[in-house]
Amino acid sequence: MKIIEFDKEEVTGRSDGIKIRESVVPAVGWRESSQWAAPAAPATPAERRASTPNWRAGRVARASDSLRMHVLDLGKLRLDKNFMVANSTVATARNPNPPGQVIDIPVSAYFIEHPDGNVLYDTGCHPDWGGPNGRWPQQTQEIFPVIGGDECMLPARLEALGVGPDQIRHVVLSHLHCDHAGCVEYFRKSQLIVHEDEFLGAYRHFALRDHNTPYVVGDLERWSRLNLNWRLVSRDAPDQNLVPGVRLLNFGSGHAYGMLGLDVDLRSRNGVLLVADACYTAENYGPPMKPPGISFDSVGFARTIERIRGIAANKGADVWFGHDVEQFASIRKSTDGYYE
Ligand SMILES: [Zn+2]
Repeated sequence: MKIIEFDKEEVTGRSDGIKIRESVVPAVGWRESSQWAAPAAPATPAERRASTPNWRAGRVARASDSLRMHVLDLGKLRLDKNFMVANSTVATARNPNPPGQVIDIPVSAYFIEHPDGNVLYDTGCHPDWGGPNGRWPQQTQEIFPVIGGDECMLPARLEALGVGPDQIRHVVLSHLHCDHAGCVEYFRKSQLIVHEDEFLGAYRHFALRDHNTPYVVGDLERWSRLNLNWRLVSRDAPDQNLVPGVRLLNFGSGHAYGMLGLDVDLRSRNGVLLVADACYTAENYGPPMKPPGISFDSVGFARTIERIRGIAANKGADVWFGHDVEQFASIRKSTDGYYE
């Protein structure tokens, strides 16, 4: 596999062939920078029309028939393993109070640099998720605390690649849970692609001010005030090519009301299926398949796993799970290089 460095002057060779940046990206900038500052006021339709994004602009984009995929490490969530794999801890008559297992799971997003328009898959948590005035309800903060500082958040990760929010053409949201859709509001000129059932389900919780779900009312409220460019994928919509080499997979209901995956062709391997929470971990994938602790539609979850298996087998593609600790540790992150 060919690995290419980001900045020629900043790399050193390693025995394994991977080039690594010598400099550490400073954990500053995006909160103050004009590109990544949180939008202050909703844009009017006239303002949006007047400002046409240039998808090819910026340091990383180029004219080429290939794509590059950068894996973004967006920190971790700390939680009870039963949420990941149902019944991981089971009490018995002999052992009525077994200790629970708390684990740290990776949060990720994927930036695909493409000559026909850059694509982002998922956005991680909102940088202001926590604290007394945080976006997330206190109960959510206690059950799923985020481990990682500002340097792990999406704006900082993309800024380190020299990418601003207006350089992303398509933002594909696997679903709208707070650890995947937290940074939606930054992408005011992008097409935000989400499953229609997911969008409607999330906004039902918003309308009811239901704070006991992974849909954060504060995030949804912010989105509703902005003039965002949503593209809803209906329940019956077929899979479709987003840009050459990047295919949108309509998984339907399962983990959440409506899940979207991405099938990414890479020159250096048979391809990668990005499935997010349609399958949290290799343990859920099996075989045998193990259901997660959080699931809207358990039958849909099982159907989706079978579908993923079929697509992966046909292409010989790898499946990259949503929150698998060991697999994510083995994947090259944007700070070390990219896949193409
Ligand atoms: Zn989820």
